[in-house]
Amino acid sequence: MSAPRTVLVINSGSSSLKCQLIEPDSGVSRADGTIERIGEDSGLAGMTVGDREVRRDGPPIPDHDAALRTAFALLEQAGAALDSVNLVAVGHRAVHGGRSFFEPTPVTDALIAKMRELAPLAPLHNPPAVLGMEVARRLLPDLPHIAVFDTAFFHHLPTPAATYAIDRELAERWHIRRYGFHGTSHRYVSEQAAEFLGVPLRELNQIVLHLGNGASAAAIAGGRPVDTSMGLTPLEGLVMGTRPGDVDAGIILYLARTAGMTVDEIDAMLNRHSGVYGLGGQVDFRELHKRIAAGDAAAKLAYDVYIHRLRKYIGAYLAVLGHADVIVFTAGVGENDPAVRRDALAGLDGLGIEVDDELNESPVRTARRISTADSPTTVLVVPTNEELAIARDCVAVLDAAS
Ligand code: ADP
Repeated sequence: MSAPRTVLVINSGSSSLKCQLIEPDSGVSRADGTIERIGEDSGLAGMTVGDREVRRDGPPIPDHDAALRTAFALLEQAGAALDSVNLVAVGHRAVHGGRSFFEPTPVTDALIAKMRELAPLAPLHNPPAVLGMEVARRLLPDLPHIAVFDTAFFHHLPTPAATYAIDRELAERWHIRRYGFHGTSHRYVSEQAAEFLGVPLRELNQIVLHLGNGASAAAIAGGRPVDTSMGLTPLEGLVMGTRPGDVDAGIILYLARTAGMTVDEIDAMLNRHSGVYGLGGQVDFRELHKRIAAGDAAAKLAYDVYIHRLRKYIGAYLAVLGHADVIVFTAGVGENDPAVRRDALAGLDGLGIEVDDELNESPVRTARRISTADSPTTVLVVPTNEELAIARDCVAVLDAAS
């Protein structure tokens, strides 16, 4: 029997590069590594293979080329050298596909050129993803490289959900629509939820709440997204770690005209100094809870605003869907914070949503139900795994081509 097919999945950020070696057919992750502080005075790199963890702390990692070479060296050191596995493809996490990319797409010069054009739509995400693609293609030229876009799942959002009520010609000219993000996670998690329940995906109305540092909600009817909270960029919607989610667009005009802030200053305020951090001085919910327990009013306000927005979106998506069979929590906060899950759904018995407190507090980390046995809407916690979804997309592309 030949060795299992393995995909190298790369998630390339501006100062970090994450990679995993995944066997898509079994879902096994063979290796998981993060290279951090790219371009800084001292680098930080770690790779875990089974129960073996190797680290390299200190030597500078000047650029993405060095980062990927470091990852390959650590893989070898940890016993998972690339030439020891049956590597069939490299999958690249790509954030914004604009109107051009909505399927897993082979990485070509043309794709890279187009992604550069799309950079203004995702200035924080697309340029480093392109860098990752370029160095990986250089270092692994004989393998197929495939880009999987965060926006892809939402490409076919119903037009009323995708359209901003702004001047149509302007929107058309500048490609302004609601694109949605975290699509790879929303798709994966909604499929996992159906599998967990043993019910065909097409029979389920789901509300998926992806609550990480970035956060988004999606309403999914029979496997097809019908609404999502992020828009042209990942700024819209839920309150996030450092982003505000929905704000009155008038705030931006007011800050520019009256406070004299530049576009870059407003950009930094919205992307880095807002959200839970902007209100409570802390992005990590574990710390936020500690501060609340210690009587910190700012932390409490940040939490309350976060929960209020979440409940608003749940209510909105119940109306969009008509009813929800399933509500799913996923990502860092969604998977690990029982207080957020409890408070997001507290008092919704009248809408058919009843959380079981004991199940909600359970330390189990795999997919699980947290609603009462007779709650009309089932509430689940389902761990997301965007890397596995990307690896599976890659082999699907290969299989379709063969
Ligand atoms: P990203 O959007 O960066 O992928 P993640 O999905 O990894 O984010 O979520 C990271 C966030 O998850 C952290 O900032 C923290 O707020 C939250 N988190 C992680 N573990 C816990 C925990 N045990 N309890 C509460 N929150 C947690």
